[in-house]
Formats: sequence, structure tokens, C-alpha cells
Amino acid sequence: MAASLPGVDRFGDVGGKRVLVRSDLNVPLDGAPDGQRSITDDGRIRASVPQIRQLLDAGADVVVCAHLGRPKGAPDPKYSLHPVAARLGELLERDVEFVEDPDGTPKTGLALLENVRFHPGETSKDDAERGAYADVLAGLADFYVDDAFGAVHRKHASVYDIAQRLPAAAGQLVERELEVLRQLTESPQRPYVVVLGGSKVSDKLAVIDNLLPTVDRLLVGGGMCFTFLAALGHEVGDSLLETEQIEACRRLLASGKLVLPSDVVVATDITEDAETQVVGIDAIPAGRKGLDIGPASVDLFARELTGARTVFWNGPMGVFEVAPFAAGTKGVAEAVAALSGDSAGGALTVVGGGDSAAAVRRLDVGEERFGHISTGGGASLEYLEGKTLPGLAVLAEQS
Ligand code: ADP
Ligand code: MG
Repeated sequence: MAASLPGVDRFGDVGGKRVLVRSDLNVPLDGAPDGQRSITDDGRIRASVPQIRQLLDAGADVVVCAHLGRPKGAPDPKYSLHPVAARLGELLERDVEFVEDPDGTPKTGLALLENVRFHPGETSKDDAERGAYADVLAGLADFYVDDAFGAVHRKHASVYDIAQRLPAAAGQLVERELEVLRQLTESPQRPYVVVLGGSKVSDKLAVIDNLLPTVDRLLVGGGMCFTFLAALGHEVGDSLLETEQIEACRRLLASGKLVLPSDVVVATDITEDAETQVVGIDAIPAGRKGLDIGPASVDLFARELTGARTVFWNGPMGVFEVAPFAAGTKGVAEAVAALSGDSAGGALTVVGGGDSAAAVRRLDVGEERFGHISTGGGASLEYLEGKTLPGLAVLAEQS
């Protein structure tokens, strides 16, 4: 990956110019009926504000575009960015014109386009189809700024093709995210400890593979730990298990760097009033699901983290969204946060992943207690896997 990407200063004076900003506004919404949904975590919207504000302050007209969820290339009220426009306006203390028609043209100095994924060209595998939609977007502005770190791993029209059609630059958020990820991959201070959790081990095998040579220890919790426990010969009851990955887990365990939980919280159902039990990893009862790491594992992970100078944490330790299974995530988050320090001392602590970032906020751990909370889950993992990210590669070609 190029050492640095072109920034917005390459445009010179943007006063009176129109700038298309691709932001990551893919926030979680609650389950209320269409048109009444509210945002349950506005972290990504807040993270997008500084770049938009900087351009507005410099006198530019700004058109923001973004996606929300995975609509099927057609308008779907469930995935409307309408609630996001309102929140963005509150944060910027300005009116945001909401442009519903995907081919519509903004009339005011600050506009948000409706979900780019309502347009089939956005995610199309066909270059011409994507290109046609990118042409529409390019017609809206003089310059393009990619500030959607969470989407840079996608070869989509509003991320990739658009940057071949307008003078393009990386936004502040993308630059900041890359600066931190570079610190993790190029000469991290040691000990370097990575904590991984989340649901699917198959999502994380590539990143484990790529990180193992660099890290000193890798702590594994969350739903993915059960495939590792099975690889060690433990019964895992009805816990998440990917049998086809057991062999791969066994191979990774041979590195000697992995640390697994010693106890887990089990229950039959994922409910707020679930009856839970803490059991050792060699005593998971048949018919129960492991839904969080247990208190002894939190202590074990905290001990393994002691003295770390660099920490990357991705993936909750349990089903933190449901109270009886949140303690493991909260405990590990506290242990990581306690290591952060000012520039004079303490560890660089980085949280990656949408759900992990949401957990930090939801469990009141305090975002400010971490060195960096990445807005991009998939993107930061793919970066750490060493993959080329199309949205960044296309910007690098510009410099
Ligand atoms: P991130 O978005 O931070 O990268 P993931 O998407 O990989 O994290 O995983 C988050 C999901 O993993 C959460 O919704 C959480 O409920 C789920 N999860 C964590 N532990 C378990 C478990 N033991 N069983 C089932 N799901 C789990
Ligand atoms: Mg996730």
C-alpha cells in the first residue's frame, strides 16, 4: 500500500466548488416500522462530520453519498438514509437536503444522496454498469473525497469507479485510520497482543494467519473460540461450531501463541432473562450454547494483556447485545482500555469492527479511553490480512 494518499489539499481552493464526499454512514437502526426507525449507534455519523465540516468551512458545496445495509439494488424503505440525514444535520447544525432520486441533483450547499445501493450499478460486478452509475455521481461534483474507510475494501461505483472520473483524494478519517493501521503492521511496539472474538471463525482465519508471525499473543473469545475448543477435543454443546474449520484451527494452535478461554457462560436461549451457568471449557453441557467467556477467562485475558504496548481488539467476547452475555466483552474492553496511555506512556490500543465499536459505546466503557476506534470492520481486517483495498489503490494511482 502506498505510504501516503493524496489529501484534499491537492484540490487547492475549494471555495465555490462542489465536492462529492463518500462517507461511511452505515449505522445500526432499531426495528421500528419503516419511516419511524431510529439510529441506535451514531458513531459512524459523528466520525464523518469533521471532513464534511472542513470542506463546508472552506466554502465548498458538499454532496454526501453513502450506503446503508444491503438493499438489493432497488429502493427499499427499510434501508433509507432519511434518519441519517436528520442526525447529520443536528451534528453539523445545518440543514441537510435529502436527495431521494438516485439521479437527482442537489440544489443547496449541503446534501445527502439516498442510499447508493438503491442503484444496481453501485455494487454491480459489471464494469460498464458500475461505470454508468459512477458517471451519474461524477456529474454532481468537481472533486471527489473518499472518507468512507468502512467501504474502501469494496470495488463499488461510489468508492472505486468514481475516483477514476473526478480528481480524487482521501479524507481525514481514511488518513487517520491508515496511520493507525500502519502502526500495527509496521514495527508495532512489543509486547503486541491481539484479541479476537465475534461470531464466525471463517471470517477471521485469514487475519489470524497474517497476524500470527507479528504478534506475541493472540487471545480468542466470542463464538469463534468454540471451533478452537473443538480442535482441542472439547465438547462444545450447541455453541457456534464450524466443523470444516477445525483442521485450520488446529494448525493455528500449533503456533503456541493462541490463548483460549478457560470457562464460558452457557444457556439454552439468547434472551434477556436466560438462565445462565458458568462452566469450565471441559464441562460444556450437551444442548447448551456458549454465549460469553466466563469470569476466569476475563481474568486470564487481563493477565495476558498486562504490560502490552500494542493491542488490537476485534470482535465481541460474547453476545454482548443481550445483558446476561455482556460481561466478558465489558471485562476485556476494560482491561484493554486500562492499558491506554497518553503519548508519554501506555499502550496503543485499537478497536476494530462495527460490533466491537458499538459494544464499547453500549457497555459504557468510554470511547475516549482507547487510542483509536476504527469505523471499518471488514476494511481494517482486510488491511491487516495484507490485501489490496480497491478504494485505496485507486486513490494511490492518482498521486
Ligand atoms: P465486529 O463487527 O466487531 O467485527 P463480528 O461481526 O465479527 O464483530 O461479530 C459480532 C457478533 O458476534 C455479535 O453480534 C455477537 O453477538 C456475536 N457473538 C459473539 N460471541 C458469540 C457467541 N458465543 N455465540 C454467538 N454469537 C456470538
Ligand atoms: Mg460485525
